[in-house]
Amino acid sequence: MRSIWKGAISFGLVHIPIKMFAATEEKDVRFHLLHKECHNPIQYQKRCPHCDREVTPEEIVKGFEYDKGRYVIVTQEELEGLAPEGSRAIDIQSFVALKDIDPIFFVKTYYLSPDQHGQKAYALLRNALKETDRLALARVILRTKEALVALRVYGKGLAMHTMLYPEEIRSMEPLGDLGEGIEVSAKEQTMAVQLIESLTEPFEPVKWQSEHRERIRRFIDAKVQGQAIVEAPQAPTAGKVIDLMEALKASIQQAKAQQKKEEAPKKERRRKTS
Ligand SMILES: [Zn+2]
Repeated sequence: MRSIWKGAISFGLVHIPIKMFAATEEKDVRFHLLHKECHNPIQYQKRCPHCDREVTPEEIVKGFEYDKGRYVIVTQEELEGLAPEGSRAIDIQSFVALKDIDPIFFVKTYYLSPDQHGQKAYALLRNALKETDRLALARVILRTKEALVALRVYGKGLAMHTMLYPEEIRSMEPLGDLGEGIEVSAKEQTMAVQLIESLTEPFEPVKWQSEHRERIRRFIDAKVQGQAIVEAPQAPTAGKVIDLMEALKASIQQAKAQQKKEEAPKKERRRKTS
């Protein structure tokens, strides 16, 4: 893995040199856009419609539209000049409990590893976070953008989540009525809770593969090998149950049946080994 950023965490007056790595990667099946006639990849040109010609990167500047069709030009140097001092630091401001941060704030995750001479201070911060069960909230400049980040213990080390600012999170107000005033009968609620209980299990990430992505991959593999592609038709979904109680009862039964089905093969195995 190649580090994408080098800097330091500042934890009070303690300075922890670190390297940053992307913790996640996209696995989506990517398609190229080709010309239908010759199957060559489509190229994108940057054109100025006013001058009616292609423009080179040197001819492109950044403009902020302050009024419709009116731009103020800002240079890269000007933007860099505005970046706060000590911009190679992840500046810890405070500590919070994970349960106090709603997941809506988290954007992307990075791993942090200690850089030269940083091992001891890194271990100290990690151990202290673990002991207190807290996250560190910090500010950091990534490229030219100031980001709010949360540092926490992950595995044997530290992970950093970039976070949204409150102003970047939309209000739910425009959604209108969310049924806050609606009365649900105790019986209905009990049934719904029962359904949740019967479908509750420990989180096993390995189970959650993207079925759609796998289907696309198999389809492409078969196509590359020139096989005829026959996909099993989707099982028909059960008819729509109108009554809430009926729907809940049926769902609980379905969940129980599913559990029995999952347990059955285990029993079989047990019988063989005994
Ligand atoms: Zn032009």
